[in-house]
Amino acid sequence: MTTATIAPTSDAPVGEASSVRPAAPHVNFNQITNEQFQEAADHMKLDQEVQLLLRTPYRELIVQIPVRMDNGKLELFHGFRVQHNAVRGPYKGGIRYHHEVDLNEVRSLAALMTWKTALVDVPFGGAKGGVTCDPTQMSRKELQSMTRGFAQKIDMAIGIYRDIPAPDVGTNAQIMAWMMDEYGKKHGYTPAIVTGKPVNLGGSLGRDEATGRGVMIITREACKAFGTDIKNARIAIQGFGNVGSWAARLISNLGAKIVAVSDVQGGIFAEKGLDLDKVFSHLKNTGSVVGTPGTKSVTNEELLTLDVDVLIPAALGGAITEDNVDDVKAKLIIEAANSPVTPYADQRLRSKGVRVVPDILANAGGVTVSYFEWVQNLQQFNWDLDKVNHELELRMVKAWNAVYQRHTDEKIPLRTSAYTVALAKVAEASRQRF
Ligand code: GLU
Repeated sequence: MTTATIAPTSDAPVGEASSVRPAAPHVNFNQITNEQFQEAADHMKLDQEVQLLLRTPYRELIVQIPVRMDNGKLELFHGFRVQHNAVRGPYKGGIRYHHEVDLNEVRSLAALMTWKTALVDVPFGGAKGGVTCDPTQMSRKELQSMTRGFAQKIDMAIGIYRDIPAPDVGTNAQIMAWMMDEYGKKHGYTPAIVTGKPVNLGGSLGRDEATGRGVMIITREACKAFGTDIKNARIAIQGFGNVGSWAARLISNLGAKIVAVSDVQGGIFAEKGLDLDKVFSHLKNTGSVVGTPGTKSVTNEELLTLDVDVLIPAALGGAITEDNVDDVKAKLIIEAANSPVTPYADQRLRSKGVRVVPDILANAGGVTVSYFEWVQNLQQFNWDLDKVNHELELRMVKAWNAVYQRHTDEKIPLRTSAYTVALAKVAEASRQRF
């Protein structure tokens, strides 16, 4: 088991994925997840009443968060918490801090969480939160004040058996620590109220790397299933935040060549494979991977169209669209980010025989270890790292096998397969309750 540590990039929150801007900011995320849902629902002839319940979220909260900024001015932020479905357990999902966060995006991400938790069989429903802000431009004091304000405003909607937030793009363990602390002021010490906390405050060992580790497991299984030797595979990863950087490290430990990675400032490429130690140390010293000695610069757009075996979009949604899909050369795409491929691009990739492993499977490692963290908090008993990684491995491989089996049995795309596996579980729970 590797325990390699990733160098922190800065004091500002890096979060679950990095915030490389997608190629098409006009993407309607809710439409993407609705279309994906509908394709699977039609395929499996899902009960119309269940469809009705699942097509829209259970509850949506929009809140005002006034923050006194360091310059003395009052700024008003808007926060969202969307609770999509909880038939299988409490609502669960991250909180995103990004300047383009809106209700539509959070709604779509909340639905993805319902499918994700069902797919890896953790007893949660799906939710998502977000605040429209640019955390990279805020001081630690401003971020803390905004986070505490947000925690107060959504206090009535969350709870250890009601809704458990976690990190997402632009948020991290420190943000979760402030949320837990704020919740505790009113309710007393309650570590299980959020996951992704610092280990010191009740976080789980292995949570930080969990999403990247899950991406590694799924990449390994997909390569095995589709006849790509991971030891000789050439891989490009868009995004070098928490998810992309851990995925790069763990996949390269399997022998694969990571030939390109990128962050908001741009990408780097090395024909023979990047020396990741050098990339991490350059990132630590300069705040970006760009300019790492011995590498060539590529743009984020160019990275997506490199001649590689596996492409891993690990930044924001909407990376592969009608604008660039025909230039994509990889034969296997692993969606480490949420919704990186639009439905149009997805259809094009299918017609070209490109396999796309969907987000709800590829990046489910994060919420899986969030479940382990919640369990440890409720039982007040800590697991060691090997146990966390072992349990994660079991659940991810089981989910992969279920998706792959349906994909081959029913001759349907991996995404439709993943959705049908997840939807069947949510639908069964719905029928049992109603
Ligand atoms: N934000 C992560 C996701 O999209 C993790 C959610 C969680 O741990 O609850 O899956």
